[in-house]
Order: sequence, then structure tokens, then C-alpha cells
Amino acid sequence: MEKRPAPRLLVVERACYITPNMVRITFAGDQLDGIPTDRSGGNCKIMLPAEGQSKEAFAHQLQNGPKPVTRTYTVRMFRDHPREMDIDFVAHGDIGPASKWASKATPGDFCGFAGPSPVKLTEFYADWYLVAADMTALPVACATLEAMPNDAKGLAVFEVLSDADKQPVTAPEGIDIRWLINADPHHPSTAQQALVKKLSWPDGVVQTCIAGESSVIRALRAFVINEKKTPKENAYISGYWKIGLVEDQHQAEKRNEQSNGKGRP
Ligand SMILES: Cc1cc2nc3c(=O)[nH]c(=O)nc-3n(C[C@H](O)[C@H](O)[C@H](O)COP(=O)(O)OP(=O)(O)OC[C@H]3O[C@@H](n4cnc5c(N)ncnc54)[C@H](O)[C@@H]3O)c2cc1C
Repeated sequence: MEKRPAPRLLVVERACYITPNMVRITFAGDQLDGIPTDRSGGNCKIMLPAEGQSKEAFAHQLQNGPKPVTRTYTVRMFRDHPREMDIDFVAHGDIGPASKWASKATPGDFCGFAGPSPVKLTEFYADWYLVAADMTALPVACATLEAMPNDAKGLAVFEVLSDADKQPVTAPEGIDIRWLINADPHHPSTAQQALVKKLSWPDGVVQTCIAGESSVIRALRAFVINEKKTPKENAYISGYWKIGLVEDQHQAEKRNEQSNGKGRP
């Protein structure tokens, strides 16, 4: 098996709040050499320095271990001229090290980066698309909508923390975009499933790009896969975080449930 390259060290070029609870961190220039440029929407690993750690010490740790605190994110967009890569972080407070790092990041700050993985939805062949996302999945949802053919039809449901967290979305005209507001992400929301279950489910092939908080995803998966019998290969449905669990605990729970054959949270 091909050996994975060691994570690279990236230095922040710009950091800005694109909406009140979403920080866009932009990396630029030669440090991006070798990162595939066609993977907007692919996920990546972000490694975080310890508080006060020097760049040199962190670079050494990335090469030699131990593994720093690591979190999963999405490449929101890669641009070629000038070469830049954006990653959008939900600023959900200081308890999460990634949220804390991103919400305070300024030019010159640094982190580790590995990936991105190949994009999940590359072939668009559906009669109707269902996109559903909370703020953590807005990056994958927006990148997916931007890649869709112009004549795509379907529904995109976005659940955000406030009215001001709605962001401009580029999507085919045939995609009906709905925004839901959930100011308290620490309580499981049922708004997305309520909206999706009210739909008159279309005939023909349905493809999905659905991601967000684990309990919401569990309910949407049960509806889309079990009830509406969408073939699994047409359905990207993924739990991106879980209320009360840090990412490593959530990933471990997912692996456990998969190996116990319970399906993915
Ligand atoms: C494939 C994939 C792609 C992802 N892409 C993105 C992305 O592009 N942008 C993005 O912002 N997130 C993304 N996420 C989600 C992100 O990895 C998690 O939100 C992660 O837990 C954040 O790490 P943290 O260090 O901030 O918090 P952690 O240390 O993991 O968690 C600390 C506490 O914060 C809670 N928490 C975690 N996330 C949130 C949240 N969004 N709102 C409220 N409470 C939360 C946890 O339940 C826990 O109680 C992605 C996840 C996956 C699996």
C-alpha cells in the first residue's frame, strides 16, 4: 500500500467571518504545491498546534509525532489564479480546539493539513437531488451544488444558527433552496426531517448529499434509505459531529456501529 505523505504545515493567509458563526480560513501560494486542485468538497484533516507552540516545534511534531489534535474539515474551494484554498470553520465556541483555533486565527498562524480525499459526488445522473446540511456541512453542500449540471432539479435544505448565517449559494435554477434556523445546535433538531418528510417524494433516480449532526443524519438516513429505498450508492449521507462528543469519540462510535452492522450514525 502507498505510504501516506506526512501532513504539511500551512500558514494562514487570511481569516474572516463570512457570517456571524462561520470563519473562512484561506491558505495561499507555494505551500499548496501538490494538493490536487479539483477536490473542492473533499474532506481533509486539520492538525492543531498546542497553545503557545512555536512553528518550528509544531513542524517537527507533524513529521515525527506524536499526532497532534486532529479534526476533519472540508475544502470549501480551491482556486488556481492566484492559488488559494478556503476552509470554512463553524465557530461554535472555545470548547472545541478547532473552533477555538479558527475563531481566533490571524495571518501567520499555522496548522497541519492532510488530504483532501476525493470528492464524494462526482457523477450526477439523478432526476432529482436532495441536499441537506447544517453549518458544518454547508461547505460540502455548496461545493456539490456548484458542481451539478445546470439542468439539475431538486431541493437543498440548510439549517443554520441565525438568519445572518444564511450565505449566498450558487446552485442550478431547478434547485429549490430552503433555509431553517436553529439557534441552539446542542439540542437535536427535527426541522430538516419534518420538511423532507412533507415532500411528495419524486419518481425516478434520487441522489443525495446529506451531512450534519448525528441524530439528524440518523433520522434522514432512515427515511431516505429504509423508507424511500434510495440505493446506498446514490446516497451520500454522513454524520459530521455529535452533540456532546468530541470528534475522536464520534468517529470511534461510528466505527463501532459499522462493525456491529448497525449502520452509520
Ligand atoms: C467529513 C467531515 C467533514 C467536515 N467538514 C467540516 C467543515 O468544513 N466545517 C466545519 O465547521 N465542520 C466540519 N466537520 C465537523 C467538524 O469535524 C466537527 O464539528 C468537529 O467536532 C469540530 O472540532 P472541534 O475541535 O471544534 O470540537 P470537538 O473537540 O470535536 O468537540 C467539542 C464539543 O463541541 C461540540 N461540537 C462539535 N461541533 C459542533 C458544532 N458544529 N456546533 C456545536 N457544537 C459542536 C461537540 O459535540 C463537543 O461537545 C466535518 C466533519 C466530517 C466528519
